[in-house]
Amino acid sequence: MDCLKIKDLEIYANHGVFKEEKTLGQKFLISADIFYSFTSAALGDRLEYSIDYGKLCKDITKRFKERSFDLIETSCLDIIKFIFDSYQEVKRVDLEVKKPWAPIGLPLNSASVKMTRRRRDFYIGLGTNMGDKEKNLKEAISLMEEKGIKIRKSSGLLGNKAWGKTDQADFLNQIVIASSYEEPEDLLKILNDIEEEMGRKRIEKWGPRIIDLDILFVDYEIIYTDKLIVPHPYIQYRDFILQQLYEIAPHFIHPVLNKSISVLYEEVKNKNSEIKYL
Ligand code: AMP
Repeated sequence: MDCLKIKDLEIYANHGVFKEEKTLGQKFLISADIFYSFTSAALGDRLEYSIDYGKLCKDITKRFKERSFDLIETSCLDIIKFIFDSYQEVKRVDLEVKKPWAPIGLPLNSASVKMTRRRRDFYIGLGTNMGDKEKNLKEAISLMEEKGIKIRKSSGLLGNKAWGKTDQADFLNQIVIASSYEEPEDLLKILNDIEEEMGRKRIEKWGPRIIDLDILFVDYEIIYTDKLIVPHPYIQYRDFILQQLYEIAPHFIHPVLNKSISVLYEEVKNKNSEIKYL
């Protein structure tokens, strides 16, 4: 992808663990690779469709100087988030913060940290079967937005019989496509915090819940860790999930099964025996 590169922008600022670093300050060097499409700018030779790197460097300098973190890791992530928040067209940022005067009492060229973050589409399934269900869905979405998650597309609301553990109130479900530059596990943590904030208690698997937030897909990525499995392993068995995905992304290809949502939805509708527990 097209990339704007900034190399060794020199900023005098006050980040560091030691008191002297906070009071006296020191020199930092910032380098960034900023990925976004140049097509609109380059095809028409249009300055207004490009990122003005002069302005960007001034804005980064201001931001970097007006804060004071212990860790360069924190200052690095802060600038990455600042770039994503300032330019919605940016898809990925690789950023390096160098400390050429790191006070370690030994000769060294520099100590530095480098971080990469990318903007991804997260397909998030919402479900609730307690209290005012419509209000719960709205509240969960507005909490996501408050935490910087941008809702790009939403399905309608769909009432469903409980799945798995059936002796409980009906669910109201919705799916949203949300854009975020958080890492997938960090986004899961944000969703879990929202569940907790809304008063969800994890008492029994598939039991009643004020809100349940699941990550269904993350772009076309496959993730398998202790905390997160993506694509969500039950998608292909749940007709209500496929019905709502079909509404907002019928041609999306399931990256493991290599089938479109419309094909998976047809398949689940034609299945007589539902798989209840996996
Ligand atoms: P539940 O809220 O009952 O759906 O279960 C949440 C648990 O499942 C959490 O501990 C997550 O770490 C784990 N988990 C694994 N993959 C996913 C996913 N794709 N979306 C949400 N939670 C997941």
